[in-house]
Amino acid sequence: MDEQNHMGMGSTSPPIETKVSLEEIKNVANEFRDRFNFKKMLIIIMLIVIASLSFIAYKVNEIRTRAFIVSFGNEKIGIVRDKEQVLNILEDIRQELVRTYDIDIVLNKNISFEDTHAKDNMLVSNDKLRENIKSRMTFLVGGYVLLIDNKEVGATKTKEDLEEILEEIKASYTEDEKIDGDIKEVKFVEDIKVEKRNIPLNKLMDKDDLLKYIQTGTEEIRTHIVEVGESLWTISKIYDIPVENLIEANPDKNPDELQIGDEIKLLVPKSMVTVATIEEVKYKEKIDYEVKIEHDNNMYKTEKKVKVKGSQGEKEIFAKVVRHNGVIVDKEILEEKILEKPVNELVVKGTKEVPKTVATGAFLMPTRGSISSRYGMRNGRMHRGLDISASIGTPIKAADGGKVVFAGRRGAYGNLVEIDHGNGYVTRYGHCSSINVKVGERVYKGQVIAKVGNTGRSTGSHLHFEILRNGRNQNPANYVR
Ligand SMILES: [Zn+2]
Repeated sequence: MDEQNHMGMGSTSPPIETKVSLEEIKNVANEFRDRFNFKKMLIIIMLIVIASLSFIAYKVNEIRTRAFIVSFGNEKIGIVRDKEQVLNILEDIRQELVRTYDIDIVLNKNISFEDTHAKDNMLVSNDKLRENIKSRMTFLVGGYVLLIDNKEVGATKTKEDLEEILEEIKASYTEDEKIDGDIKEVKFVEDIKVEKRNIPLNKLMDKDDLLKYIQTGTEEIRTHIVEVGESLWTISKIYDIPVENLIEANPDKNPDELQIGDEIKLLVPKSMVTVATIEEVKYKEKIDYEVKIEHDNNMYKTEKKVKVKGSQGEKEIFAKVVRHNGVIVDKEILEEKILEKPVNELVVKGTKEVPKTVATGAFLMPTRGSISSRYGMRNGRMHRGLDISASIGTPIKAADGGKVVFAGRRGAYGNLVEIDHGNGYVTRYGHCSSINVKVGERVYKGQVIAKVGNTGRSTGSHLHFEILRNGRNQNPANYVR
């Protein structure tokens, strides 16, 4: 293009005199060509200089804007001019953590760099970069992990923390008031291991928090059947479980519309470990006595008497008791010593059929008639019987079974029958016109023993009836009707 322009310039230059020689023309042409070549050269050199300067300027700028994209994992967190800047921040953070937690820290350096170019205003500030790293950083710390049946349940900074937690759990089941004897062994039912590991700091737990977590960490599902008048709130009180937990455990239930008979799930905290305690216990126990029955054919079927009173014995037991979290799961008796033997009770029971002549204990009215005189004071004298007025010859029946102990005439009684009933009672029948029984004869209840009369000191035909208990007169009206 430049060349064409110059050619154009040549063609438009003023016309040369025609008189000049060919030689002269040649010279001029040569001169012209030389001059033209020189100009061309100059232009090329100038172009080279410009290009070089541009390149230098470019290169200077390229070097000046050279930078690195910092990535944390897959995430770009800023642009820096200098890698060293990032490494210094990492070391700063590490130092700070070591000071804060007083433990060895292994940083999880998930930082990568990528070449780029950036102007100063695109660079991330130190503070911002530091914040970006810290907020994403998961760094590992040396800690101790507790494994229950090979399952990680938590970690603490020191081994001692875990050991103390385990001791505290054990101790909670070996307190004096929770056991009866001497603890021989305390162990965990589960396989418990403590391992040193590098773990993320956020997994490190406070000793007390981990202890609480282990003691209540797993939840056992139990259920409650709703009864009349119950709501989630009353159920929450019964089991000491927050209402929110009940709502969470029963998403299918409307808390305001519980029905009687609904099954409510209860999430009850349950320890993740089981402490087995083995204790040796010595205690006393009563021994029950046996009741032995002996038969006696001299006694009536209705009779029974205690021949030997029974009494409990006592033994001392030495046993091995196994508890799981305080609840007895097994008991093995190692030794039993009888301190006092029980005395068996011996009861004698009769086998003999009961004869009718044996007293029943209840009296019948001995004759038919009207009451003409009651028991008690009469005309200044004591009347010791009940007078039943009846015509002569009316049958008199034995008021109860018994044995005739008197039959005959006795003073004011006239003809008298006296029956001993064998149970402390005696009955008397006076003023009889005739007597049907003899002394020594056994009579049954209701048997006719005599007839109504008017013998002895009597005014008119009647039966004078007496009941005596242990020799003392009773009011017959209290016995017969
Ligand atoms: Zn009388």
